[in-house]
Amino acid sequence: MLRLWAKACRIDPERLRGRALAIRYLDRPRDWFLAETAPVCPLCFDADVVAGRDTYLRGHWRLAEQVVCLEHRTMLLDRCPACRDRLQISFRILNDLVRPFCRKCDTILTGGTGETEGAVKVDLAAGVLPLQRQISRIVSGSPGRFVRLNHGIRILWAPLDHDGAAQPVLALWYDEPGWNCPYEARAAVSRSTPLQHLSVRWRALTLVILRDLFGADLVPGSVLSEAALTLFRRAAPLPWLTDGRDLRTSSGESVRLMLESHESTD
Ligand SMILES: [Zn+2]
Ligand SMILES: [Zn+2]
Repeated sequence: MLRLWAKACRIDPERLRGRALAIRYLDRPRDWFLAETAPVCPLCFDADVVAGRDTYLRGHWRLAEQVVCLEHRTMLLDRCPACRDRLQISFRILNDLVRPFCRKCDTILTGGTGETEGAVKVDLAAGVLPLQRQISRIVSGSPGRFVRLNHGIRILWAPLDHDGAAQPVLALWYDEPGWNCPYEARAAVSRSTPLQHLSVRWRALTLVILRDLFGADLVPGSVLSEAALTLFRRAAPLPWLTDGRDLRTSSGESVRLMLESHESTD
């Protein structure tokens, strides 16, 4: 397909191949790319306009941990600033150059149509950026830490152990009676790859909670805080979570041993 496409567009097929995510991120597992529409940075689009070139989607926006633009240090956008619908982009030619539009309401996404960043969002972006960088390093780093990172994220998004729970374990982190997992985040509950199913702000929050529960390492280590242990014990036993072990009856010691067995591959 790539060869045919290259031929039809008269582009060097090797150049196209080099743009493929699988080639550019050789050491990254497939499930750490977003499966659906990736969020965008309107300021990157504006930079394209200023440079007098076609606007284009950056490959790294598809990485599951990317929620902040590395260049502009602002949160990526996954809702249309005009119609508030989930952002799907269509590209069209305007004055001889390719420009991005919202597929739903047709608003052009350049020229400052991006949301004015509130102070909270600016702070969140600044706080999350170092976490995002660290996660990227873990994803392409040693297998042991990566396994423990996946484990930590899956625990947060596993369903609570009582029957019929639509609530993720993360609800315990909130510690607010009556807290209900919002509809937009429910698709991530019980998944083996929760980040793939979450909006930008929920992915950002997941990174913040990892920091809060597991400290500067962002992954569960051999010593777990009491708060982290409580969460581990309340996760429903999903096959990709427990390696056949029941975490509900696990003592702190057996959780520690399980994590160490992952760690030994570091
Ligand atoms: Zn940007
Ligand atoms: Zn729109």
